[in-house]
Amino acid sequence: MKAITWSGRHDVRVEEVPDPSIVNPHDAIIRVTATSICGSDLHLYNGFLPGMKPGDILGHEFMGEVASTGPACETVQVGDRVVVMCGISCGRCWFCKHDLYSACDNTNPSSSQRALEVAYGHAGGSIFGYSHLYGGYAGGQAEYVRVPFADVGCLPVPPELTDEQALFLGDVFPTGFMAAENCAIERGDTIAVFGAGPVGQFAIRSAFMLGAERVIAIDSVPERLAMAAEAGAVILDETHGEPLRRLDDLTGGRGPDACIDAVGLEAHGKGVQNAYDRVKQALRLETDRAVALRSAIMACRKGGIVSIPGVYGGFIDKFPMGAAFLKGLTLKMGQTQFHAYAPRLLERIRTREIDPSFVITHRVTLDELPRMYQVFNDKADGCIKVVAKL
Ligand SMILES: [Zn+2]
Ligand SMILES: [Zn+2]
Repeated sequence: MKAITWSGRHDVRVEEVPDPSIVNPHDAIIRVTATSICGSDLHLYNGFLPGMKPGDILGHEFMGEVASTGPACETVQVGDRVVVMCGISCGRCWFCKHDLYSACDNTNPSSSQRALEVAYGHAGGSIFGYSHLYGGYAGGQAEYVRVPFADVGCLPVPPELTDEQALFLGDVFPTGFMAAENCAIERGDTIAVFGAGPVGQFAIRSAFMLGAERVIAIDSVPERLAMAAEAGAVILDETHGEPLRRLDDLTGGRGPDACIDAVGLEAHGKGVQNAYDRVKQALRLETDRAVALRSAIMACRKGGIVSIPGVYGGFIDKFPMGAAFLKGLTLKMGQTQFHAYAPRLLERIRTREIDPSFVITHRVTLDELPRMYQVFNDKADGCIKVVAKL
């Protein structure tokens, strides 16, 4: 079959690879019908995550049709149309039973688990196509993919929803929604969203769905700001400088009730501070550039919440702990609990509260994905979200 493989930094290819097969009785094989590139795939593309091996199949946002099932599968059946959760979870361990699916104890093979335990104290669950640190599972940017614990990870899609409407239930929609829900929004609240990429776009719309009165989107890319404005957000173009002072101006000096960092470890801020971060990151003295996180903490009102869906992998410098303490902030973060959110969000799509396909700017074939990695990474051609249809 054809698959998108990682061969090194900025080297993504279409290659002919062996078809996947059932390895474990709980597996299913999915024939992929749609897959997309996630912002976090760019961390692999840019070589920020260790544990990638040449030939690894990329992709954690995908859906399709069940082609075959292992003997222990009980709910998924051949022919089902499903969207697959990007995190792999067993559904049976203590964490899965407590809706903390991304902390699953049973899906990360022992070698990766040990590496994660050394780095983070405890290991988490696995992610499709996301390095050997996260399980080394083949990803879904391919014609076929093996889905472990298929009964747990496959969400059936009703026929009235198109692939474009259902695809993002596996990752970016739940991620944006959980980020907004973590803001504990009350009527009248102002929410600031740093970063108007796909996760930021879903966070903006989710904040409105959850009752925010005003959402302020901060970014520097015109197309992203325009998409945020379409959702009703007040837009704040970073290139005009001083976003923190302008957030104060917009909130009578008080600051937003909650701030969402939808940027993560590859912040592209300008100025001395980011230049300093870039140098330290290049020298491996610091692993993550935290421009957006620092801004979110500095901007947030006293007693407010900073919600962090943006991905961080290591260490950051100049974490404004004093500001967080003085203001009594609550910080909420972490990998999304996709399995817990996706069924509820599917209902919101079915009842037409939201149509997630709004975020798609590029529709391509699998063969065109390597080129689109570059386009998406460069934020060129108005690219916000790429979907490949097979
Ligand atoms: Zn993702
Ligand atoms: Zn589990």
